[in-house]
Amino acid sequence: MYLQRKTINTDVSITGIGLHSGIYTTVELHPAPAGSGITFVRADLDGLRIPALQASTTALDYATTVGKDDVQVGTVEHLLAAIMAWGITDVDIHIDGPEVPIIDGSALPFMHLIDAAGVRELGADIPVLRLREPVEVVDGDKSIRIVPANRLIIKYRIDFDHPVIGRQSLHFDFGSDNFLRKIAPARTFGFARDVEKMRAAGLARGGSVENAIVLDDQGVMNGPLRFRDEFVRHKVLDLIGDLALIGRPITGEITAYRAGHALHSQFVAKILKAAAAPEPLPVEQWASAHRISAS
Ligand SMILES: [Zn+2]
Repeated sequence: MYLQRKTINTDVSITGIGLHSGIYTTVELHPAPAGSGITFVRADLDGLRIPALQASTTALDYATTVGKDDVQVGTVEHLLAAIMAWGITDVDIHIDGPEVPIIDGSALPFMHLIDAAGVRELGADIPVLRLREPVEVVDGDKSIRIVPANRLIIKYRIDFDHPVIGRQSLHFDFGSDNFLRKIAPARTFGFARDVEKMRAAGLARGGSVENAIVLDDQGVMNGPLRFRDEFVRHKVLDLIGDLALIGRPITGEITAYRAGHALHSQFVAKILKAAAAPEPLPVEQWASAHRISAS
């Protein structure tokens, strides 16, 4: 199966603070030619190009980071989820610093940004990845697996020992469900008790009640929520962004339980390995190739 390659019509930009670095950056999306893929371009560092691919991932603590040599672009997943949702295959993402702005913590501002740019077909095809076999990654009680299917379906379950989150599950059909309405507005979330520890580790320095759902032990400190199950919806958003690093569209039925960026990344790596494996020969051809005959 093939899909049309797509890019944006015109340049658009957005500015804001980085969730983890606390650094203000401007992201400019530029149209790109068919086949060039999704690429981060460090405008402040001689236009160094970092492809948005699994091979570029460098860090996965609380967010997905891509890099080349010692240059990085962090928290790429919400922007990449919006790019995936619009079906964009080729775009240059110029950025003048180390982290994509968090804006409101969701993918909604990026959905609107791309809408403002407009989307156009490039008159070339991109092959859709459809696996032949299931692929699974398990880490203790966390897991994520994909079984072959003709469209992309995500079933995500989380289980937090917290009165507002608890157990939540969501079934999202990428072909028929509305990403803009159901997934894009779901914001990232964090626990107030982790903030000091995260800041000491150089994380969450730009985090605030303006760009994340902040929870204490009893509940949400900066309500109201946009959805009662906003947390699991955000996990689906993160996963869609991380799947962009495959480098082409994928179909399959994905089941995730208590996963996160680190597990998503191992999963994408395993999918790419499975996709690169040579197609097994049909049994008769295998037998003749090995000079085996029935007697
Ligand atoms: Zn996220």
